Amino acid sequence: MSIIDDALSANATLADGYDSDRGKPPAPRIAVVTCADPRLTAVVQLMGLPDADVDLIRNVGTVIDEDAIRSLIVSTKMLGTREIMIINHNDCGLSRFSGDDLAERLRTETGSAPIAPVTFFTFTDAEQNTREQMLKVRSHPWIASDIPVRGFLFDVGTGRLSEVQPIESAAATL
Ligand SMILES: [Zn+2]
Repeated sequence: MSIIDDALSANATLADGYDSDRGKPPAPRIAVVTCADPRLTAVVQLMGLPDADVDLIRNVGTVIDEDAIRSLIVSTKMLGTREIMIINHNDCGLSRFSGDDLAERLRTETGSAPIAPVTFFTFTDAEQNTREQMLKVRSHPWIASDIPVRGFLFDVGTGRLSEVQPIESAAATL
């Protein structure tokens, strides 16, 4: 059996204990953008937030790309979230290889040069990368200026969050 088959089999039993109240329309209070890395799955729990309060937006590398912005606009404008957290982390997979190298390898292996993805959004400095993602959200005209946009690094070794100052503040302290 595949993992998917195992999961379906488990679901048939585990759903017996499902609380049907969880099927009511969501009213999350905060949007959290974080990495798809399995080690980040516990971050909502580690912040003491109920699942229902969090609109969790995940992709590989905590990237504010077109799709993440789309989700954040819907989150703040339609679902009613009032704050945005961007949670990057140390030891991210996207800091362990070069996107250009991967693209080159895939071009060689497949003999194809597709037009997308243009970039894999790899990075070397998680803190600086987080600042850039914060700026992308903050400067988007369809994200209201009264919505706080704060960035953090999650330490996968300790489970603790540390705040990343936005580019404006970082520049001001130089
Ligand atoms: Zn990651």
